[in-house]
Amino acid sequence: MMPSTLRHQPHTWSDDPGDLSSLSDEVIQVGPAALSSMMKLIERGLAMGEGFSGGSEYTGLAGIAHAYLHLYESLTTISASHRGRQSQALQMLAASQASLLSKAAKMAELARAHPERTSFLEGMPGILCIRAAAYKALGQEDRARETAQEVRRWDGPAQRMPPGEDELLYGRAGYLYSLLFLHKHIEPMTDAAPVVHKLMEQILHDGRRHPLAAEYGGLMYSWHGTAYLGAAHGLAGILHTLALALKQFPTGSLSADREWAALITRSTLALVDHAFPSGNLPSSHGSDTDKLVHWCHGAVGLLPLLLEVEGLCTAAEKEKVHAAAEKAGHVIWERGLLLKGPGLCHGVSGNAYALLSAYRKTQDARYLMRSTRFALWLAEHWQELCNHADRPLSLFEGISGAVYLWADVLALHTSAAEQKLDKVYFPGYEI
Ligand SMILES: [Zn+2]
Repeated sequence: MMPSTLRHQPHTWSDDPGDLSSLSDEVIQVGPAALSSMMKLIERGLAMGEGFSGGSEYTGLAGIAHAYLHLYESLTTISASHRGRQSQALQMLAASQASLLSKAAKMAELARAHPERTSFLEGMPGILCIRAAAYKALGQEDRARETAQEVRRWDGPAQRMPPGEDELLYGRAGYLYSLLFLHKHIEPMTDAAPVVHKLMEQILHDGRRHPLAAEYGGLMYSWHGTAYLGAAHGLAGILHTLALALKQFPTGSLSADREWAALITRSTLALVDHAFPSGNLPSSHGSDTDKLVHWCHGAVGLLPLLLEVEGLCTAAEKEKVHAAAEKAGHVIWERGLLLKGPGLCHGVSGNAYALLSAYRKTQDARYLMRSTRFALWLAEHWQELCNHADRPLSLFEGISGAVYLWADVLALHTSAAEQKLDKVYFPGYEI
């Protein structure tokens, strides 16, 4: 029973990793059937053209295609590790594997976004990234490469966006993420390095000029007049993308790399200074209500940033970052069973991903325990949660986020977990 006045469902579960093996049994028992039911609902919605909006990764067809593609890839791992002792539900799911890939490619081909939108989550670049990934999975390497090159048509528009249009959901960081995605998942984009560095310079330049920059370690941004702190529109999302970009595309100058790394780190530490005592992040500068434990606004976007920045820190800074990550992980665990929907942006799937991200980076089994508990709760409640989602089929608000998560959780709890862990990342945020 879900209390209607709360934003989240309270729980009293233990996160003692000693219970992991019984939890794994539950995952293997519950997961395939839950995934099959979720897929049936998506298929019905797709046939009726309902439950999603447009073509984007965030609310539309490309996001659903991304979930199909991810489930297709995870089923290869799951089937290989469970050969000979598969449940009937898993066998049925595995039987649909090939069609998942062809459907993903078809959806990614049909998807369209407004041509002036340049980001991964809301624009054509993101749709083309998923299309390229589907072609690559189909073995059509040439088509995948050609599609990846099409993304470069937005190099100029992304650079020409007005100063201040730097956030992840619609802005420059969102285009930068598209290039990082292609570099990691399609083919090395070494010729994109000058564009990547130009975009980074523009983002850093805008951040330094903001009136609140000094208070936030040297960088701050506003989107539509508000100085947001979270992942979707704010500082956490921009810093996280910059940290990923610097790792994938070092500048070639040790001193420039050090200067940029120091700036990203200083701003992250200042962001931590502005966090609530709970470890959660205010939605924007000056907000004093500690209520949103979301990826878009809150600790859920902060935790992957802290884990990423740890690699850039000095020993003294590492201690502070580590303590903040521990607190962020705790507040997500305590208040993360969100009732607003099943998706990645402000739903349980996204919160489970921040915890999985912590597991990948720290190998601390408590985080696997926590994210698995969230996934199991989701398997039980996803239908009720769908009633609260604006676009109930979508990746970032709806059930495709749950499908994406369950594909990873199921693979992690099979014997091939070690091989799988490096492929577990928050879609649209990590790479
Ligand atoms: Zn959100």
